[in-house]
Amino acid sequence: MVGGGIIGLAVAWRARQRGMSVTVLERDECGQATSRIAAGMLAPVMEVEFGEAGRRALELGLRSAELWPAFAAELARAAGAEVPLIGGGAMFIARDEDEARELERQLAFRGSLGLRVERLRPSEARALEPALAPTLRLALVAPEDRSVDPRLVLAALRGACESGGVRLREHASVAEVEVDGAHRRATGVRLEDGERLGAGALVIAAGPWSGGLAGLPDGAGVPVRPVKGQIVRLRDPAGPGLVGRAVRFEGGYVLPRGDGRYVLGGTVEERGFDLAPTAGAAYEMLRVARELIPGVSEMEIEELSVGLRPGTPDNAPAVGPGALEGLTWATGHYRNGILLAPLTAELVAGVLEGRSAAQDLGQLLGACDPLRFAASFPRPVSSVEVAS
Ligand SMILES: Cc1cc2nc3c(=O)[nH]c(=O)nc-3n(C[C@H](O)[C@H](O)[C@H](O)COP(=O)(O)OP(=O)(O)OC[C@H]3O[C@@H](n4cnc5c(N)ncnc54)[C@H](O)[C@@H]3O)c2cc1C
Repeated sequence: MVGGGIIGLAVAWRARQRGMSVTVLERDECGQATSRIAAGMLAPVMEVEFGEAGRRALELGLRSAELWPAFAAELARAAGAEVPLIGGGAMFIARDEDEARELERQLAFRGSLGLRVERLRPSEARALEPALAPTLRLALVAPEDRSVDPRLVLAALRGACESGGVRLREHASVAEVEVDGAHRRATGVRLEDGERLGAGALVIAAGPWSGGLAGLPDGAGVPVRPVKGQIVRLRDPAGPGLVGRAVRFEGGYVLPRGDGRYVLGGTVEERGFDLAPTAGAAYEMLRVARELIPGVSEMEIEELSVGLRPGTPDNAPAVGPGALEGLTWATGHYRNGILLAPLTAELVAGVLEGRSAAQDLGQLLGACDPLRFAASFPRPVSSVEVAS
């Protein structure tokens, strides 16, 4: 396994449970990159986007959202730690006529997909969330969207991996994938310090860095780009209760952790591997949040941080076998890697066990097939075939 973020750790844990011998190679310390920055919304309904890739992402998101309660409970047991899911749904609010028109369009779109979303008048929205400013025009509520604190999940995954027998090798940076060219098969990796490690099966879960691994033949990789996201962490000295559910608006969200802490996010910027937090982004996020929820002014700033979302060209994930034998991808989770972690772990463990053609997994793997980016590369015989 290359990468010890939420995806790499979740896959490693599941694969080990299925009896495989698993080593995670992490160039830093596990769980310190994108996954640590994420807000943690488990929000397939609010995140759904127009278009074919959006439809595929929704299918994956809804399935993974269903898995989350059992995943969190099992993880908590395995790690002896708390992994609470925060319910209450998510509210999307419009501040003016233009935004209200857009919300109506979003409501109709979700309705056409059979998703449960309720339309609220301003008075109804303020009855649910009294801290909202009176300037509100319209609100939607997705009652089933939830959230989780990714840092608790990462700590628990680490604990579960360690106690379950996954070998975590930190400060082990993979320099290149080793490939048996004649057989178009990935055979292992070479680390930056020159050490070579063979692997019966290699999984790439290197988040936004997944597209840059050396050693892969042309056309055998998955194109992944970093999409910068800045996020502010706040704490209300008055304790919890100002806002009870995720409040989303054009350009951002305020997400309560339920204990007086809030996450305010997030920018979406195409700036390569730039990790610098900027005053302009922080100002804009705080300005809009305060306009919508005036009580935000009294909160203390705990952290301003930056993460890099792993985005593929169509922004849908790339999970499953690729163009090389012996290499499985678990990347490209873009804005939904926390949501999609349980499902990704199931899918990749299934592929590694050789169950990828099974009906239950095949359909879902078809929705995130990495081979859609390797059209010109010869397809290995064992790759997933999915009936439409
Ligand atoms: C601001 C922001 C808010 C977000 N909010 C949400 C949200 O609310 N809900 C949601 O579902 N998702 C959210 N996301 C998206 C989510 O964070 C990502 O999709 C997810 O964290 C990706 O996980 P990962 O394990 O693939 O990547 P990472 O967590 O980045 O892990 C990849 C790991 O690979 C390691 N690595 C890289 N290259 C190498 C190498 N050569 N050798 C060894 N190790 C290597 C890295 O050090 C890193 O630890 C958000 C993201 C951002 C930035």
